[in-house]
Amino acid sequence: MVVRHIGVLGLQGAYAKHFAMLNSLNIKPINVRYSDELERCDGLIIPGGESTTITKLLEVNQLFDPLVQFAKDKPVFGTCAGMILMAKSVDDKRVQTLNLIDIFVDRNGYGRQVHSFINDLDVKLDGNSFSMRGFFIRAPRILKTGDNVEILSSINKEPVLVRQGHHIACSFHPELTNECRIHQYFTTLSTELSIA
Ligand code: GLN
Repeated sequence: MVVRHIGVLGLQGAYAKHFAMLNSLNIKPINVRYSDELERCDGLIIPGGESTTITKLLEVNQLFDPLVQFAKDKPVFGTCAGMILMAKSVDDKRVQTLNLIDIFVDRNGYGRQVHSFINDLDVKLDGNSFSMRGFFIRAPRILKTGDNVEILSSINKEPVLVRQGHHIACSFHPELTNECRIHQYFTTLSTELSIA
C-alpha cells in the first residue's frame, strides 16, 4: 500500500520545508496539531525544532498517546528533533520519547548551534545508493542502536539515518536540500511492515 495522506506535525520548528518537499512530490500535506488531523493521515513526519518544546506541546494538545497508537501501524519519519522524539531513550529527561526506534540519542551530541555543519552523505535505500548533502543543525547523535535497527547512512561509522520496521529517522535535514528521495522512500513505506 502506498502512503497517500502524509501529515506533518506542525506544533513547532521546521515543518514548512517538509510541506514544500511533499508538495514537490505532488502530495498535499496535512498540518497536524490535534488528534483529529492525525486520524486523517497514513503517515506522519515529525520535523526538526526543539525536542523539549515539542514534548510540552504534544502534552498540551493531548497528542502524545494518539501518536503512540498511530505509530503502531502507520509510518513515522523524524528529522533531527523529530528523531530525538522517536528514540527509545535520550540523554535529557525533559524529552518524553515515543519509543518508536531502538536508538539511544544524545540530544545535542554534535555540539551547539555554532558547531552546525554540512557533510556529504552516502545513503542506501532499497539497495540503491546515492550521495547527498546532510545539513546538521545542533544535531542529535545516535550513540546506540538496537539489533533491529537498519543503518541507511552514517558518517565516521556513526549512524545518521536509520530505519526500524515502518519508521525512519535521521539526525540531519533532508528537507533543506533538493534531494527528495528520502521523503519519497518514506511515502512508499508499507503499512503492512511491522516493527521487528
Ligand atoms: N538538538 C535539538 C533538540 O534537542 C534539535 C535540533 C534540530 O532539530 N535542528 O531538539
